[in-house]
Amino acid sequence: MHDNLFESADSIRARRRPDQQAPCALCGGRSFTRLFHKQGYDFTRCADCALVRLDPLPTPELLAEVYERSYREGLYAMFAKADDVRVATAHARAAAIAPNVPAGPWLDVGCSTGAFLQAVVERGIDAEGFDLSAVAVEAARARGLRATQSAVDDFTPGRRFACITAFDLVEHLIDPNPFLARVRDWLAPGGRLALTVPDIRSAQARIMGRHWYYYAPPVHVNYFDRDTIVRLLARHGLATVSIGGAPKVMTIDYVLQSLAAFNPLLHRGVRVLGHVTPASLRRRPLRIPVGELLVLASA
Ligand SMILES: [Zn+2]
Repeated sequence: MHDNLFESADSIRARRRPDQQAPCALCGGRSFTRLFHKQGYDFTRCADCALVRLDPLPTPELLAEVYERSYREGLYAMFAKADDVRVATAHARAAAIAPNVPAGPWLDVGCSTGAFLQAVVERGIDAEGFDLSAVAVEAARARGLRATQSAVDDFTPGRRFACITAFDLVEHLIDPNPFLARVRDWLAPGGRLALTVPDIRSAQARIMGRHWYYYAPPVHVNYFDRDTIVRLLARHGLATVSIGGAPKVMTIDYVLQSLAAFNPLLHRGVRVLGHVTPASLRRRPLRIPVGELLVLASA
C-alpha cells in the first residue's frame, strides 16, 4: 500500500554494491536462498542458519517514513480504538507470563497506550514502560501509568527488571542484536524476557504461503521460527524457558477491519462472515491463533 510514495525495494537494491549485503543477523552468514517475492521484496533464507529476511533490507530512513506516515494517517487509529480487544489480549498475556517470573518490577518496551502495563499493574506488580510515540505515552500517563517517551537507544533505566516484555517488536528491527544486548543488560539476575514473534512454521503461515499477513514488507524485516528465535536469544545469554503459541484475543469485527486495511484480497474472501454472523457474536472476544509465538527467556 502506498508503495509508490516511499523509496522502492528496486531503488534500495540499485544503490547497494554487491559487497554491501549485510551478513545474517543470526549467524553472520552471507549466502541466501530466494524463497518468494512480495510487494517488491525478495524473501530469502540464510543458507547456514535458515533465518528468513527481506532482500533488500529496508533502510532506517524508509522505515521511519513508513511509521511516521502510518501514525499521521491514522492507520493505527483503528487499533487504538479497539481497546476491548487489546485489554483482553493484555490480560491473557500477563496471565501466561506472570507465573514464570521472579518477584520484582516489569518493563514493557513499546508500551503504546499502556493496555499491557495496566493489566500488569492490576496484578499488583510494579511496572513501567516506554514508547517512541509521544501521543501513546501521553495516553498511558493519563491512565495513571508510569510511561516514558523514548527510543530503545536512548532509554536509561533507573533500575533492573524482573521481567521485560517486547510484543510484536523484534521482527521490525533491521538488526535485532543491539536491541537484545541492551535489554539483556536491563534484566536483574534470573530475570525474564518475554517476546512475541510471528512464526513462519505456524499452520497459518504454511496454509497461506506468501499471502500470510505477517509477511509484511518493509515493516517486518526478519522472520523467525522456534529454532531461529531460540538461537538468537542464546547469542545474548538468554536461555529459553518456554515457547508456545500466543493467541490474540480478537472479535470477528476486528479481524474483518484488519483484513480490510492490510489484506484487501483476503478480506473480499471472508467478508461474508460479517454479514452472516450475528452482531453479538461478532463483538465477542475470541482467542484466535494467529501464528505468533510467545517466547520466555531467562537471563
Ligand atoms: Zn544465518
